Amino acid sequence: MIRSSDPDIIRPYLEDASNLAGGFANEVVFPENEKDVSQILAEASAKKIPVTVAGNGTGLTGARIPFGGIVLSTEKLGGIQEVDMTKRYAVAGAGTTLRQLQESVNEKGFLYPPDPTEQNAFIGASVSTNASGARSFKYGATRRWIRRLKVVLSDGSVLDIQRGQRPFLRFEKEKKGAVPLVPTYRTPPIKNAAGYYVDDRLDPVDLFIGAEGTLGVVTVVEVDLIPKPE
Ligand SMILES: Cc1cc2nc3c(=O)[nH]c(=O)nc-3n(C[C@H](O)[C@H](O)[C@H](O)COP(=O)(O)OP(=O)(O)OC[C@H]3O[C@@H](n4cnc5c(N)ncnc54)[C@H](O)[C@@H]3O)c2cc1C
Repeated sequence: MIRSSDPDIIRPYLEDASNLAGGFANEVVFPENEKDVSQILAEASAKKIPVTVAGNGTGLTGARIPFGGIVLSTEKLGGIQEVDMTKRYAVAGAGTTLRQLQESVNEKGFLYPPDPTEQNAFIGASVSTNASGARSFKYGATRRWIRRLKVVLSDGSVLDIQRGQRPFLRFEKEKKGAVPLVPTYRTPPIKNAAGYYVDDRLDPVDLFIGAEGTLGVVTVVEVDLIPKPE
C-alpha cells in the first residue's frame, strides 16, 4: 500500500468540484484491498487521527476535502468482480467508475438504472452520497438499487450486509448499554440527501447509503440490474 506525506501527492486530494478552499492533510494513503483499509482505520482510530474518504473528487459539496489527518483514497479499490445475468446483479469494488460499471453491464444487455450525470464518479462514492440524477424521476436514487455492501468500520472491523438479511434497526431512546443507537428524527418523504437516512424499519444497508463516509468506508457494492431498455 502506498502512503505519502509529499505535499505534491497530497495536493490533488485537497480539491473536488466544489471549489471549497483551505483543505489540508498530513498524509494520503492508497489502500489496495479491504485489509489495507482495515489497517489504516484501526491505526487512525487508535491514534485519534481524522480520516477523510476520497472518491474521484467530482462531489459538489466539498465533502471529500480534508481538514487535517489522513486522506484515504479509494481509487485502487476498483474493478468489476461479478456480473450475474440470471439473478440480475453486479458486484464492483468501491473505486469503479460509474462509466466502467455501466459499460460492463450494457455489453451484456443490462442497465444499472441510476445516472447521476458525472460518469467519472466512483460507485462507492455514489452510494455514500445516495447520488441521483435525471433518471431518478423514473428509477429513484441510488439507494433503491443497492443490494449488498461491504463496509470497513472505524475500528477496522468489516461488515458484509445484504439488504433484507439482518434485523431492522430499531429506534430507542438512549438507554444504558442499549445498542444499536440510531437517530430519532425521520427522513422527510421528499428528494433529500441530508443527514443519516432514517426509517421506522431501517435496513442496516440503508444507514450507510448517503452517510458520506462518516460511518465507515464502503469497499464493495452489489447493485441490481434491469434489462437495458431499447
Ligand atoms: C458535472 C457534474 C454533474 C453532477 N451531477 C450529479 C447528479 O446529477 N446527481 C448527483 O447526485 N450528483 C451529481 N454530481 C456530484 C457527484 O458526481 C456525486 O456526488 C458523486 O457521487 C461523487 O462521486 P466521487 O467519486 O467524485 O466522490 P467524492 O466527491 O470524492 O466523494 C463524495 C463523498 O463520498 C465519500 N466517499 C467516497 N468514497 C467513499 C467510500 N468508498 N466509502 C465511504 N465514503 C466515501 C467522500 O468522503 C465524500 O463525502 C455531479 C458532479 C459534477 C461535477
